[in-house]
Amino acid sequence: MRTRLAPTPSGFVHEGNLVNFLVISHVAQTCDAAVALRFDDIDRLRVRGEYIDDIFRVLTWLEIPWTDGPRSTADMAQWTQDQRLDRYQWARQELWVTGLAYHCTCSRTQWNAFTGDSCPQQCRQGDHPFQVGRTATRLHLDGIPDPVIWRRDDLPAYHLTSIVDDCDGRIDLVVRGEDLASSTDIQRRMSRLLPGNTFHQAHVLHHPLVTSEGRKLSKSAGAQASPLALSDELRATVSNVAATYSASAQAHLLRSREC
Ligand SMILES: [Zn+2]
Repeated sequence: MRTRLAPTPSGFVHEGNLVNFLVISHVAQTCDAAVALRFDDIDRLRVRGEYIDDIFRVLTWLEIPWTDGPRSTADMAQWTQDQRLDRYQWARQELWVTGLAYHCTCSRTQWNAFTGDSCPQQCRQGDHPFQVGRTATRLHLDGIPDPVIWRRDDLPAYHLTSIVDDCDGRIDLVVRGEDLASSTDIQRRMSRLLPGNTFHQAHVLHHPLVTSEGRKLSKSAGAQASPLALSDELRATVSNVAATYSASAQAHLLRSREC
């Protein structure tokens, strides 16, 4: 099996990231799975070198091994997602020919206020051309708001890059926080529509984002203004939480498949 660490270098690492890294590492050891490291860094405007440095700093501190991917910030030039734009463009085109994708002019505010599962202004029937800054490309999926596959700033959206990278990286085990459970559902449905994409066959495990003290570890709650102080106390806290989550994740995996 192959799993991955896929941090987004748009902020300093928080406790929730530490727990996630440890759970991935524990599950990988149990299943004898290889671990790949990739950075979800398509949004270059939010990426900063110090955030990338911080991820390598904590992975080293946590003593988490990985077999594929960059080893240090100096390697990053070969591993950025923008070098894979042709793969994302291919995927967008393949989703376009399903007839379910459309260019949408509606704003995020309009979508947030909208309770249906198709576009607030029926853009799917409107046949708008794609215009940078004005339209996003969305994919119609029954029962949920249509997810964006290509952003209005002309970048591939997270769901699209994630399933393309997981498939191309031969990832068949994904361990992520439960805040991404709805993303997993969207990505599985998208994957089934994308020829050759294997993400929908991968095992996906979701772990809670709460500390042993009941503190939330969600991305927003954990946003860090400065790098975490890496102390023995912090190591003990995140290790305890990760051990509990890893045990339940492994039990789930063993029930669903031999590993
Ligand atoms: Zn629309």
